[in-house]
Amino acid sequence: MTLLILGGTGEARELAKELVARGEHVVSSLAGRVARPRLPDGEVRVGGFGGPEGLARWLTENAVTAMIDATHPFAERIGANAAEAARETGTPLLRLARPGWTEQPGDTWHWADDLGHAARLLPDLGERVFLTSGRQGLAAFAGLDLWFLIRCVDPPAAPLPRRHEVLLDRGPYEPAKERALMEGHGIQVLVTKDSGGAMTAAKLTAARELALPVVVVRRPWRPGTAGVTTVQGALTWLSVTTKGSPA
Ligand code: NAP
Repeated sequence: MTLLILGGTGEARELAKELVARGEHVVSSLAGRVARPRLPDGEVRVGGFGGPEGLARWLTENAVTAMIDATHPFAERIGANAAEAARETGTPLLRLARPGWTEQPGDTWHWADDLGHAARLLPDLGERVFLTSGRQGLAAFAGLDLWFLIRCVDPPAAPLPRRHEVLLDRGPYEPAKERALMEGHGIQVLVTKDSGGAMTAAKLTAARELALPVVVVRRPWRPGTAGVTTVQGALTWLSVTTKGSPA
């Protein structure tokens, strides 16, 4: 029995760890965007499959029993590819995605439909921006004459805003350090995707404590795959799907 996890998230690594500990044959797939990725337990393959057809071929050639799409909520294309390849090959598919963040008392959130919308909101919210939306899509902010602290895992590519500083780092983060970082750079507004999860939520706590506005980019819509929000939920689904009984 071979299980394929489409990964690149903490949940994907956690699921791989649990399954390997149970003696399952797991292959985790990474896109290969990050130079030094955190590697999950078990077998790992890196790089695109070549669209839905390539993924379907891979599923067949490797006799995959079930596939879990545990990719990031903002990875739009791979979800559709997985759904199409699953349909084509009859492979059971589950979506594992952590819930989004919710606004709490003391928060001032401005929801944006995408990065372009986030960029349009910024001039009215502050001059010094903490941009934490990741390395992709930063061109949306390139035309703004504001100052940006851009935090990402690997160096971002041009075009970037004219006035900026890049900070290379990866979570988990702590509220006190996030607060000190924002205070130290005189940050007036935070930009984030609604990634959800605990690993990068500390910036939201810090923004709340500092009474800073936050621009939160809404998750893109992912059509039609049954989903769970926890690793335990995925383990139960796998047990029922592959063995006919809950974990
Ligand atoms: P995307 O737009 O959904 O995917 C673009 C292409 O990358 C896909 O068509 C596929 O290529 C390949 N790909 C994506 N995920 C893959 C995987 N797990 N294994 C093998 N190939 C994969 O994805 P993205 O937004 O560029 O994100 C890439 C990866 O980074 C995802 O796996 C995601 O979990 C992780 N990530 C993304 C974000 C984000 O904000 N987007 C944040 C953190 C982590 P082929 O068509 O050739 O198969």
